Amino acid sequence: MINLPGSEHIIELVYLVATALFVLSLRWLSSPATARRGVLAGEIGMALAVGGTLLHHGIVDYKWIAVALVLGTIIGIPLGKVAMTAVPQRTALSHAFGAACVTMVGTAEFYLRAPNIPKFMMSVLSMEVILGGLTFTGSLMAAGKLQELLPQRPITYKGQNLVNLSVLAVPVALAVMLVLHPAHKGLFPFMVFIPLVFGVLMIVPIGGADMPTVISLLNSYAGLSAMAMGFVLDSKLLIVAGALDGSSGFILSVIMSKAMNRSFTNVLFGAFGQVQATVAGETEAKIVRPATPEEAASILSAANKVLIVPGYGMAVAQAQHKVRELFDSLTKKGVDVKFGIHAVAGRMPGHMNVLLAEADIPYDKLLDMEQANSELPQADVALIIGANDVTNPAARTDTGSPIFGMPILDVDKARTVMVIKRSMAAGFAGIDNPLYYLDKTLMLFGDAKTFVGNIVRELTGGGHG
Ligand code: NAP
Repeated sequence: MINLPGSEHIIELVYLVATALFVLSLRWLSSPATARRGVLAGEIGMALAVGGTLLHHGIVDYKWIAVALVLGTIIGIPLGKVAMTAVPQRTALSHAFGAACVTMVGTAEFYLRAPNIPKFMMSVLSMEVILGGLTFTGSLMAAGKLQELLPQRPITYKGQNLVNLSVLAVPVALAVMLVLHPAHKGLFPFMVFIPLVFGVLMIVPIGGADMPTVISLLNSYAGLSAMAMGFVLDSKLLIVAGALDGSSGFILSVIMSKAMNRSFTNVLFGAFGQVQATVAGETEAKIVRPATPEEAASILSAANKVLIVPGYGMAVAQAQHKVRELFDSLTKKGVDVKFGIHAVAGRMPGHMNVLLAEADIPYDKLLDMEQANSELPQADVALIIGANDVTNPAARTDTGSPIFGMPILDVDKARTVMVIKRSMAAGFAGIDNPLYYLDKTLMLFGDAKTFVGNIVRELTGGGHG
């Protein structure tokens, strides 16, 4: 037990610095140029927050805390080393752990305090365990779907939303009863258990591919439940950190939904993943123009301006380092090469930025969608590497398309379009892409890493580049 004179002030000061670091961390994370600093600030803030909490004079014994720290470290180190493509499910697991912790702390606080719990305290405590419980099982389900341990397909049935909302209404009603009569301790276990069931039911109708958006929403719930815990434990640090987490998770979900032209309700209740079953079958009849790495290399080296649009396929193929070699060899030949990044290219927010940063592509060469769209009409070549939906002109023109209205990269405005993908298969939205049948489009069939590698070989001495 630590009970130094003035230790309360030291703890408050440490918490204040930690809070400031969390705010700065989020600020810095919003640009690739400062993102590393943002991660460091977040890590130092978290270390200070844990350190400050360990100084708390309410702690009577450090034994169990030490055990938990060792266990957490043993689980945390391998979690930090997962492959980039597994980051969404890894993040979901972190939310599940956080939410389990919040629910258990809330439960302990209830039994420590009941029946002397003021109404406000009981309200936030109820919010804490309800959000914590549904986030715990919801996040586990989301991780399971993304890791393909559970079926990815949305499972729907008639009246599902009504059933789900009715299940959620029960713990909310129990919370109201407990606020009015906190002595009814017998109700509390139900208020914890039913949200656990709701968390499972909530994820069942959502397709695996929509999980990243749902995970960022669960992130928001985990933050809000932590904020409620801050009120229960009278911790300003938790209130601020929880609010930051809750609001940033919510804003991210909104950005992702907007970039996919989907509403929240559509993501949560629309069972969007089902569309994938409708991959167009009539595409074979239409004519496409395949080209070889030699042809691609000679067109690229004759260009003045090339805009590369990476997508999910670049991530799957881990082609980013080959793309960097392509960037280098074209730049050496005096070609102006830039990258157009769509907000939902790939399968998680910032997916392309992270991969291109890993390959040391200069940040100033990365254009967001608006910037890229203003440059595309002047581009000689738009080179699409494993992207599909984010380039689909049907989003602009075909009112019947499931992605109609989704903002896209206008690659069809470039003089020549080249598309690297393995086949005519559809992308995430499960729909055909009319871009592939344009006269100006050349299809470069093959794995992204291999094909880009072959182009680079042509450019750097192999063929007639
Ligand atoms: P996409 O539409 O899913 O298309 C990816 C393309 O990559 C596929 O058509 C596939 O064609 C090709 N591909 C796969 N493996 C490849 C390989 N090894 N080499 C070369 N090509 C390969 O991807 P996108 O254009 O990046 O669009 C992202 C989609 O995901 C959007 O619909 C978006 O709404 C959705 N989404 C994104 C997020 C996010 O946060 N980023 C979250 C949820 C949903 P082949 O099979 O023929 O090779």
